Amino acid sequence: MTALIPFDNSYARELPGFWVSCNPEAAPAPELLFFNRDLALALGLNPDVLGGPDGAAIFSGTRVPEGAEPLAQAYAGHQFGGFSPQLGDGRALLLGEVIDRHGQRRDLTLKGSGRTPFSRRGDGKAAVGPMLREALMGEAMHALGIPTTRALAVTSTGETVQRERPLPGAVLTRVAASHLRVGTFEYFRARRDTDRVRRLADYALARHDPDLTGADDRYLALLRRVAQRQATLVAGWMNVGFIHGVLNTDNVALSGETIDYGPCAFMEAFDPGAVFSSIDHGGRYAYGNQPAVTRWNLARLAETLLPLIATEDSEAAMARAAEQATEVIDAFPGWFAAALLTRQRAKLGLTGNGAGDHTLAADWLTLLQEQRVDYTLGWRRLADAADGNENPLRSLFADPQAPDAWLARWRARAETEGGSPADLNARATRMRRVNPAVIPRNHRVEEALTAASDHGDLGPFQRLMAAIQRPYDETPEQAPYLDPAPAAVTACYRTYCGT
Ligand code: AMP
Ligand code: MG
Repeated sequence: MTALIPFDNSYARELPGFWVSCNPEAAPAPELLFFNRDLALALGLNPDVLGGPDGAAIFSGTRVPEGAEPLAQAYAGHQFGGFSPQLGDGRALLLGEVIDRHGQRRDLTLKGSGRTPFSRRGDGKAAVGPMLREALMGEAMHALGIPTTRALAVTSTGETVQRERPLPGAVLTRVAASHLRVGTFEYFRARRDTDRVRRLADYALARHDPDLTGADDRYLALLRRVAQRQATLVAGWMNVGFIHGVLNTDNVALSGETIDYGPCAFMEAFDPGAVFSSIDHGGRYAYGNQPAVTRWNLARLAETLLPLIATEDSEAAMARAAEQATEVIDAFPGWFAAALLTRQRAKLGLTGNGAGDHTLAADWLTLLQEQRVDYTLGWRRLADAADGNENPLRSLFADPQAPDAWLARWRARAETEGGSPADLNARATRMRRVNPAVIPRNHRVEEALTAASDHGDLGPFQRLMAAIQRPYDETPEQAPYLDPAPAAVTACYRTYCGT
């Protein structure tokens, strides 16, 4: 009989000393709450088998499938600026890797499957609400075209986990391009283990940037690639109003995927200072700080790579390496700005590059902020305005005349690219393909998770999941998911780490 999941475990094989073997704990009554058929198919797995009792057993950690080599990965991390030399997978296990339909290697991990040697004081477990939340957010991000880890399954365990109150337990099965984090490099750098940092970097190059493996300056090139991927990623987040909430270096993946959905949220009224996380008192990870904090995180990665970038073991060579790495870190804001502007042009319905486009976009955001306009709807209704229907847009503004002057500038700019009725129509259509109607709004997410966690009712979760998987559709079934929560609800909204 062929294995249910054709594992090929390069991390276990090539990187002994970077992880600890560990088995998941069996769940007393595993049940699939969510199974991602499309993702299973993309991975080349059999959704009919894995969507049934075999899947519930495997994805809850109750049965270790043939070919899996479960292990907890070692990593460190800067958390809110302070260094923790030992974090590691305290409630997650890498089951193994599979090669997907596109030939891409993917990690399959369990999150919430019990204690590991890295659990410290934690129970290694997870609750239904936060795991369904991670599944929802990841699918939303994927549907919005932003690189992300995704949920293959969420199972309930039949166990109770003790948090502020007793909650039903769950395990998330996560699919990722890899789980190489900035913090993985920091772990070995903090132990002055240059040999292991080099092996890790070589592994990262082979896995994510194989074209660079033969290059003389490959470690500097790796840093540049990671920085460019982060520039693209964070531009994607900014563009949809996403706040990760806990951008510690252990939550920054070298692959450039969004990883570790904890106290994240989508912003409603546009506000660069928006923070939802209950633990982010200083606003370190506020919406508008994400590019700067990502640059800071990349500098931490650069520090780990300096001994590899240096051509020899001398002070002069280290100083030269530091200069070269600093050039990359200093280039990050420019890469980010370019990636953001490209996306903003598309959102504005523009196809070419105009000299004033950056200011046009920046002034639009200022207007949204001054008028407390919902970020998602502001852009979406601008698409309606593109082919003549301005009233829905104006109704979002405290003063419906407020956008007049800006709209006139935007029209003048847009019409340099065509002003016929057909052009306007094409522009509006284009804009509706990049400006989502549906995002996972905080009040809808909470409603879905409460129903599932407190009442065992998966209906609201399933309907919300279906809606966020088609973010650009504005059909009647999507209507309940378009509107923001009342401002008073959003003002009090807090997110918590999913521990
Ligand atoms: P996170 O907030 O999910 O990024 O996790 C930060 C660190 O805390 C990681 O090392 C996790 O493995 C660890 N951790 C979080 N929750 C638990 C838990 N319930 N039990 C053990 N370790 C945990
Ligand atoms: Mg984490």
